[in-house]
Amino acid sequence: MTKSLPKRAAVVIIGGGIQGLSIAFNLFEQGQRDILVLDAGYFQGGASGRNGTLIRPGFASVAWTELFVLTVREWESWSKRLGENIMFTQRGYSVISEQEKSEAMLLEGLKVQQSLGVRSRMLTRREIDDLLPAINKSRVRAVQHQTDGGVAPHHAVMKGLLAFCHRNQVDVRYRTRITGLERTTSRVTAVLVGEHRIEADCIVACAGPNNPDIAALAGVALNGFGMRIEAMALEPTRPLIKPAIALIDSLAYFHQTSRGEVVGGTEVPERPRMSLKVDLPVMANMAKVYLDMFPQLGEVRILRHWAGQLHASSDFAPLLGEHPQLKDLWFSAGWSYGFAGAPAAGKLLAEAITKGRIDHRMQPFSLDRFEKTGPIVEGGIVLA
Ligand SMILES: Cc1cc2nc3c(=O)[nH]c(=O)nc-3n(C[C@H](O)[C@H](O)[C@H](O)COP(=O)(O)OP(=O)(O)OC[C@H]3O[C@@H](n4cnc5c(N)ncnc54)[C@H](O)[C@@H]3O)c2cc1C
Repeated sequence: MTKSLPKRAAVVIIGGGIQGLSIAFNLFEQGQRDILVLDAGYFQGGASGRNGTLIRPGFASVAWTELFVLTVREWESWSKRLGENIMFTQRGYSVISEQEKSEAMLLEGLKVQQSLGVRSRMLTRREIDDLLPAINKSRVRAVQHQTDGGVAPHHAVMKGLLAFCHRNQVDVRYRTRITGLERTTSRVTAVLVGEHRIEADCIVACAGPNNPDIAALAGVALNGFGMRIEAMALEPTRPLIKPAIALIDSLAYFHQTSRGEVVGGTEVPERPRMSLKVDLPVMANMAKVYLDMFPQLGEVRILRHWAGQLHASSDFAPLLGEHPQLKDLWFSAGWSYGFAGAPAAGKLLAEAITKGRIDHRMQPFSLDRFEKTGPIVEGGIVLA
């Protein structure tokens, strides 16, 4: 494997999850050639093959909403541009509040979303009945519904991205771990895979929970920590839940697939924890949250339960851009909504790398925001 690796590439991308592949795809579309993607694990082995697959345009802050409005627009064109059906279905995304405080946040967020052109509204009681007939109405305080949100199965998306790379000579290697980075005082110059050195004009790190380790290989720091979250799938049942769902107070999200399985997760309270081992109490908590909101799910059994790892920044917002202390080392990191966000991140980072243009939608997520402008405050995410 190491022997057949090239000695140089214009762009080396570290990590072949959805972030790495989206950046490779967008770089290629924007005219970049000689792109090499290296991943330590197996195809879809990271969070990109373990997530809930939920996608939505609207949050409570301008920064998040502008980024995710772009991402949904990009999702809408991916099947055509990739030449592969990635099965993105815009069945809507409902954010459900059970408490006064979260209802107020949803109402504030609605103003932000509508000012940015998001098709969202608070549902009336009758609309809740029509759209979510199986919901436990006694628990629901308010529902914010985003018409253009939805889901895209990760296997179809990842397969589509990889097929595009293969057709276009974007070199993607799995089971190839970056073990070192070389640098001068001001910029990175090469990646090391064991003894093998690959010179690069530009290096983009999308290594999920290992992003801080990649930064450390170059002798710089990166904000954030690794964390584990868990998800589960219930056996197929009749259609009960049409839109994708976020329960903002219970920190849960799920949807019902076209096969009828209910898939999603809740946050794992303790962190940081870098393990792929699942916990029985977490599964029990997830089951309780689902049942409280959709009691009819009590009829079905749990099919699977799994864990995945993320790199979370200290404000849970992505970290997008060049490292402030090291030229030519770029990051797409800090992602908790990194499946949904990958199309926008790929587009904006590819533009920044090829044209030197930092889009205003990427600017707020710069790596040095904590020292410069402060953390991004976003109340609409399903993370504590
Ligand atoms: C249970 C769960 C549910 C989720 N639900 C959603 C959801 O509904 N919607 C949403 O938007 N997001 C969701 N997410 C988050 C989303 O999955 C991630 O934010 C996203 O997949 C991150 O993509 P990535 O490419 O950065 O990371 P990953 O897919 O983790 O890829 C990182 C890759 O880097 C590689 N790597 C690490 N170190 C090295 C190294 N030294 N050298 C080479 N390669 C290396 C790894 O092998 C890995 O393949 C969920 C995550 C989990 C775990």
